[in-house]
Formats: sequence, C-alpha cells, structure tokens
Amino acid sequence: MPVFDDRFVRELPADLDETNVPRFVERACYTLVDPTPVRSPALVAASADLAASLGLTVEALGRSPWLDVLAGNDLLPGMKPYAVCYGGHQFGNWAGQLGDGRAITLGELVAPDGTRHEIQLKGAGPTPYSRRADGRAVLRSSLREFVCSEAMHHLGVPTTRALALVTTGEQVLRDILYDGRPAFEPGAIVTRVAPSFLRFGNFQLFASRGDHDITAVLVDHAIRWHFSHLDALSGPERVAALLLEVAERTALVIAHWLRVGFVHGVMNTDNMSLLGLTIDYGPFGFLDVYDPGWTPNTTDAHSRRYTFGNQPRIGAWNLAALAEALTPLLEGVVDVQRVLDHYADAFARAHGTMLAHKLGLPKLDEERGDLALVQTMFELMRSTEVDWTLFFRGLMRVPVDALEGRTPHEDEARAWMGEAFYDAAALSGATMRSLLGFLEVYAARARAEHPDERRARMERANPLYVPRNWLLAEAIDALTAGDAAPLERLLEAVKAPYAPRAGFEHQAGRRPEWARHKIGCSMLSCSS
Ligand code: AMP
Ligand code: MG
Repeated sequence: MPVFDDRFVRELPADLDETNVPRFVERACYTLVDPTPVRSPALVAASADLAASLGLTVEALGRSPWLDVLAGNDLLPGMKPYAVCYGGHQFGNWAGQLGDGRAITLGELVAPDGTRHEIQLKGAGPTPYSRRADGRAVLRSSLREFVCSEAMHHLGVPTTRALALVTTGEQVLRDILYDGRPAFEPGAIVTRVAPSFLRFGNFQLFASRGDHDITAVLVDHAIRWHFSHLDALSGPERVAALLLEVAERTALVIAHWLRVGFVHGVMNTDNMSLLGLTIDYGPFGFLDVYDPGWTPNTTDAHSRRYTFGNQPRIGAWNLAALAEALTPLLEGVVDVQRVLDHYADAFARAHGTMLAHKLGLPKLDEERGDLALVQTMFELMRSTEVDWTLFFRGLMRVPVDALEGRTPHEDEARAWMGEAFYDAAALSGATMRSLLGFLEVYAARARAEHPDERRARMERANPLYVPRNWLLAEAIDALTAGDAAPLERLLEAVKAPYAPRAGFEHQAGRRPEWARHKIGCSMLSCSS
C-alpha cells in the first residue's frame, strides 16, 4: 500500500468550519472536504509511466480499491482530502476568492524513490469554493485535460500530470454555447498529479485581505518544500529569491508554449502555477495555422487577451500581480520592476534559444543575420495560411548542403514544405518567391552548422504530433459513441511526439477543412 503524507494540511492554517456549503473562507489555506461518491466509475485511460513512477500499475488503477479512489468513492489510509482557498485576477479583473471549486486533493503520495506527489481529483463534487457551480466535470473537457497533460509531458513542457481518466456513470448539465440551451453530458474525473498545485492566486488572496502573516506562512511552506535550494536564505532576501525564480520558471514555460504552438487560453492568475507548470487545461489549443492573434477561447474572442502571441506579455502582467502581493514581505529588496526585468531577460534568452533550435542553430546570432532570417520567416508565415508544426518539420527536410551555390527549385520547395501550406494554390507567385528566397538564405546559414548537430537540435525542438483540437474532438466524438480507438491512437502519437511513425499520418496532418469553424475545434467555451 502506498504511503501518504499531508504537509499542506499539517503546516498551513485550516478552515475551522468543515461544512460543505459555498461560502467565504477567511484566514485559512484550505478546507477539509470529502469527494462526493458517484454511481458507476469506469477507467477510460491511465498513464502507465506516471503510474510506474508512483509505484502503481494501470491494472491496479482499474480495480478496487484504486478505481473507487479515483472516482471519489473511497479513500486509502493516510488520505486527508481538502480543497484549497485561493483568489485571482480573471481576464484582468480582481475576482476575489475562487478556490478549488471542483478539485479535491486526496493526499500526498510518497513514491518509491521518496518524491512526493499531490494526488488531486478534478470533478469530484462540490466544495465550499464551488460558488454557484456543481463541482463536476464533463467527459469532453476531462479527456482534453488528460491527453494534453500527457502530451505536454512528453513534449518536454513543464506541466501538471494526469494519472487517470474515469467516467462517473452520471450525467452533468452544461450550456456549452452559453445560449440558454443546456444539455446533459457524461460526467468524468481526471486524477491530476503535481509536486504542488500552488497558484499565484493563493498568495494574492491573503495579500488582498491584508492577511500578510498568512502570505508569509504560505511563502515559507512553498520555499521549504518546493524551492528547498533557497531555504538557507532568510528574511526578505528569501522571498525575493523565490519571486525571481518564479519569474524564470514562468518565462521558461511560456517560451516552451511558443515553441510547440500552445495557447493556454485562460491565463488568469489563479491558473498560474508557482512552480512554473502548465496548469488547468481548459479552452486551450495548439496552432494549426500560425497566427499570433489566435485564441481558441470564445470567452476571449473580443478582448483577445490570451492569444498565442500575447502570452509572454500576460506572463509579465501576472508576475507583477504576484510581486505586488508579496511586496509587504520584500521590504524593498526587489521591486516589481526588477522582477519584470528579470522575467524579460529570462524569456528573451529561453525563447531565442528555442527559436534557434527550431532552425537547427545553437543560438540566434545577430552578427550572422539570424534576427533578419527569423523576421523574414515570420513574414512569410503570415503572408498565407501556414501550419506552425509542419513548417518546421518541412524545414528539417531541406538538404542544406546540396543547395550550396544554387537556388532551390520550385518543385523542390513544394516537396519539402508544401504540406505546411493550407492553400496549395497560394504557394506560387510572390509567396513562392519569398519561400525560395528564405530557403536560400536559411540553407546558407545552416550550412555553417555541423549537419548532425543541426538535425539533433531540430529533432528535439520540433514535434510532429501535438493534440490539435480537431484530433481531440474526433477522440471525444468517437468515445461518446463507444469507440475508444481514436483516443488510444492519439495518446500513442503524443507519447513520442518527435518520432515520426508509419500509421500515424492522420495524427500528423494539417487541420481538415471541416474543423475550420467547428465548435470544439476552432472555438471552445470555458464550459467544462
Ligand atoms: P477555471 O476557469 O476552470 O480556472 O475555474 C475558475 C474557478 O471556477 C475555479 O475556482 C474553479 O474551481 C471554479 N469552477 C469551474 N468549474 C466549476 C464547477 N463545475 N464546479 C465548481 N467550481 C467550478
Ligand atoms: Mg482554474
């Protein structure tokens, strides 16, 4: 039997009231609350490698007692379930108390290697933080979170993980289009795993209430257990070191999002992980067509706050909010501007290196014209509909050495890069000339690199398989009709996203025309 610990519960102030009704909770980091049992749980998917690292197996997760635990119907000895109190800025406005409205942490599993992992159910029933909602989650959004957590992990992007996806055998009422026509959908629960689910919003809530003593206790807890290399520091220097490291981690995770073409969709401060993990998968999307102004989130369609290209700026905005919350503890050791400068530097470095690697270069070298090269590339990509993922896979096919002393031909360029272009007819005239010009300059630059190193960099930076929204929609529709095969194929593909395999051409494809304007593909609501 696994061993469970509960450092969060032991060390942090608890809500003395344990009644499970929506309410304001003051001067407490969490409320003890049990999951609400469901009718008939069934395991739909599980992560074998994550299970193994926790000392579990998929077989064990599919039967009693684990299946009942994953459904919220049972607890193992040592588990002490709780929901966390936090706040946040939603779409730029302070929303006050939010909290785990449907997430319940069961406990902290101590893995065979001694590492600790919070085991959290999402969709496990109401908590004091549910406000007017039901505490449940639907299959479509839970499947999306499960698949994307797996995908991000294998892409090398920091993320919370998903251990299991279970259906509850119960129906959940949702108004997907927010048009007053709610319908029943199958309910589900995702078991999420992370060292900690602490968010910027945890610190903001106490700061907003002037409860700086609690912010301090929470900071202390976070550093002791999750930033232990900073533990030897003391006083405001310790808090400042935490903040600067959070800035670096935030910069790194957002640089990775831009690398793989990920749009989070809801970068509210309650959805920003203190550990720099991608957290809370909702109306996210992977770029099909490269468009910095794209967001799949219909709620954000007008203000366009959380578009692909705006994510680095929003990272800064969110960090400023966190820095402000910690200001009373910083005693002037660092100010908000210093944190933002640190973030900007870290982001520029990480993003520059990742872009360079996508092109097969070690770093972007201004003196060799790399900045101009990148600018030309983005201009080309914006001149017509170009697939973000397939463009870079195409670039990997360009035989740069064979292009010495000559310009590529149109049919060569089409063979290497054609599949990245949504409109084959558009790859002619001025666009073709731009592509040929870019390829010539690119090849000349890339020839300066050792071919093996160039290839290795590109193979690590440019995934082929990402869980595009239309692939997720196909998996959801099929599963709802009783066919799990598309889900299984998609999971298979994203588990090795950089390695092309025969039989997975569909998962590596451009967005099909039917998905261009389809609900659930190009447009997603927050309804989940
Ligand atoms: P999100 O936009 O998913 O990050 O959620 C924002 C807040 O709403 C969080 O406090 C969630 O716990 C809460 N929430 C979202 N959906 C539900 C639900 N179905 N039941 C209860 N709380 C929810
Ligand atoms: Mg959230």
